[in-house]
Amino acid sequence: MYEEQINAYFDDPKARETLIGAISRLVAVKSVCGEAEPGKPYGPGPAAALAEGLALASEWGFHAENHENYVGSADLNEQETRLHILGHLDVVGEGTGWSTDPYVCTEKDGMLYGRGVSDDKGPVACALMAMKAIKDMGLPVSANVRLIMGTDEESGSSDIAYYYSKHPYAPYTFTPDADFPVIHIEKGHYHPSFGRSWEPETALPRVVRLDGGFRTNVVPPEASCVVAGLTAADVEALAKDIAARTATPFTCTDREEGVCIHCAGKNAHAASPDDGRNAISALLELLARLPLAECESTQAVQSMRVLFPYGDTRGRGLGIARQDDESGPLTLNLALMRLDDTGFSAKFDVRWPVSSNEDNCRRMCEIILAQHGISVTADPEMTPIHRVPADSPFVTALMKSYQTFSGDTKSKPVAIGGGTYVHDIPGGVAFGCCFPGFDPKMHCPDEQADVSMLLSACKIFTHAILELCR
Ligand SMILES: [Zn+2]
Repeated sequence: MYEEQINAYFDDPKARETLIGAISRLVAVKSVCGEAEPGKPYGPGPAAALAEGLALASEWGFHAENHENYVGSADLNEQETRLHILGHLDVVGEGTGWSTDPYVCTEKDGMLYGRGVSDDKGPVACALMAMKAIKDMGLPVSANVRLIMGTDEESGSSDIAYYYSKHPYAPYTFTPDADFPVIHIEKGHYHPSFGRSWEPETALPRVVRLDGGFRTNVVPPEASCVVAGLTAADVEALAKDIAARTATPFTCTDREEGVCIHCAGKNAHAASPDDGRNAISALLELLARLPLAECESTQAVQSMRVLFPYGDTRGRGLGIARQDDESGPLTLNLALMRLDDTGFSAKFDVRWPVSSNEDNCRRMCEIILAQHGISVTADPEMTPIHRVPADSPFVTALMKSYQTFSGDTKSKPVAIGGGTYVHDIPGGVAFGCCFPGFDPKMHCPDEQADVSMLLSACKIFTHAILELCR
């Protein structure tokens, strides 16, 4: 329905020009989260970008409203609201290594470059363009669409929490702050802290200190330890053997207190641990094979090595591996570990699929850890999975719009381990704007967006609005 009209509208060079003009205005405002000021909870940058977004919406004839500089909204009409589209105008810092000015939207060979062109100023402009197209063409809608422009997605999404503390949810919500086709499942999280303590020990050789990882949601790229009673010469040959298997180089240095062993892994997001090389697990593989004295710290090293063997990103060692067709496998990242003379503490990050539950995940972990004398010390809860059924009318409608204008009939709704802007919004899904196979260089230098893809997204959103609000 209305496909030809939608195509004609966005294939007109005027639409292209309008879209790029809008994105350029938004990109020109450096909207990195800053110190709060009176009336500007995220500082002057995000507030200025919001002012620009609202000005754009007003100029295009929409009723625009500033919600105390947390978010702004633009309404398609005065009917009852049926759809929320959630985008954000804050950006992460530009960093270094750009070939263009990050705050000047630059077009080159059909590609836009600039901070926010893909995340998420470009997609916000696409959503607003879709609303404009419906208005300009006078296409029939019997319900309102509210575009909500957030300003704190990159630093915790407190903007959206604020908005929904004062306004109702819409029957349908999507965010164009991720990928096409539709992300309908965001796996549940489980990241307990655990450990064991003991009396100071004297036996040799033993591990006297270990330190690995720096953040729960990152595969630890580094880990190091000190083994008293051994020298580099005792460790080096074995370290070479292990490194050949794990691809994590070890460096051994003699110190007064013993040999210091450093392991270099590779970081990755905890939601895709297969992309990384876990330095803590690799170090444990080495330590568990050294001729250590029988004592508590050795026992801890042995237990941790059994529970989190190198390469196990599925929770097999803990007995919690699960997998299902709808949401894929459970993933696990051993994120942090510290050990000293009186005990150790550690933390892992699990993203669990629909086939996991309290019994086969949390309780199982607690039982297995207890068998090794280890207890959970903090964050024992499993936070719920976010799921909208693939065969629901909402997801079906979005898939239809996507297929109509992308020609991609193979892709299916997607489950991810990470969280999107709608993670806490009942019934919300992520929808665009990045097409399968395209790398937007999100959060990196030379962030990019393909203009023809953005125009396709505009068409898809226009069609989806019609499908949902006709
Ligand atoms: Zn984003």
